Amino acid sequence: MKLKELYEKVINKLKEAEIPNPQLEALIIISESLNIPKYKVITEPDLDIINYQEVLKVAEKRAKRYPLAYLINKKEFFGITFYIEEGVLIPRPETEILVEEILKILPTDKEIIGLDIGTGSGVVSLSLLKNRENLRMYATDISEKALKITEKNAKILKLYDRIKIIKSNLFENIDEKFDFIVSNPPYIPEEEYEYLQEEVKKEPKEALISKEGIYFYEEIIKQAKNYLKEDGFLAFEIGYNQAEKVKQILKSYGYEDIKIIKDLQDIERVIIARR
Ligand code: GLN
Repeated sequence: MKLKELYEKVINKLKEAEIPNPQLEALIIISESLNIPKYKVITEPDLDIINYQEVLKVAEKRAKRYPLAYLINKKEFFGITFYIEEGVLIPRPETEILVEEILKILPTDKEIIGLDIGTGSGVVSLSLLKNRENLRMYATDISEKALKITEKNAKILKLYDRIKIIKSNLFENIDEKFDFIVSNPPYIPEEEYEYLQEEVKKEPKEALISKEGIYFYEEIIKQAKNYLKEDGFLAFEIGYNQAEKVKQILKSYGYEDIKIIKDLQDIERVIIARR
């Protein structure tokens, strides 16, 4: 099949499924599946494509609302390309604010150690490590798949020597005091699950949903004092409408210095707290 025809077929499949930006996604799907630069799809319409069936299969999956990141096995986060596959949460741009805010306050004049609870694909830990040479991270997750993918990303990015990847629920298997604890835990309340986009429902439910939304914040804050240095801080991504509740929990555990940062949609998205 000629490249031009394949491109049209892919666009049509995506259009029929009402995928937004079908032209752009078709370009990405074709260039990534065939491992050719995007411009060639436009400039070499007469190229003969032998393995066109594979490309159409990918397009078919996208039409069934599989997220693009799972189909091309990558997602950019904090200017870094991460390896992603089905079974881990796809990193979100909002989470870049969490990374940015931590970088703003991390001391640069001494060795720092941080803990990332629920690391998923490892994006938060690895973005921090990539930007701070004086940092080491412990990254935990309950999901074996997440740990495997974090390890893979750490190796690709040559950061494996500064990250310790641990299978853990909350603080299980952790025996260390940290300069900071970061988490982007599951925070969507169970009753909101049915309203999520089809694409989001292809992501692991255990990475998205939490009892009443704030369960993980409560648990982490409750136990944090055993794992945080005296002058350490907590940094969380939070969901819509959770800032006030999380702030109250923090206060009740003696965290007085609390900063809340909004995202581009004006939603309170990140909370940073010290005792
Ligand atoms: N820490 C990862 C991220 O921010 C995974 C978070 C999660 O699975 N809830 O993308």
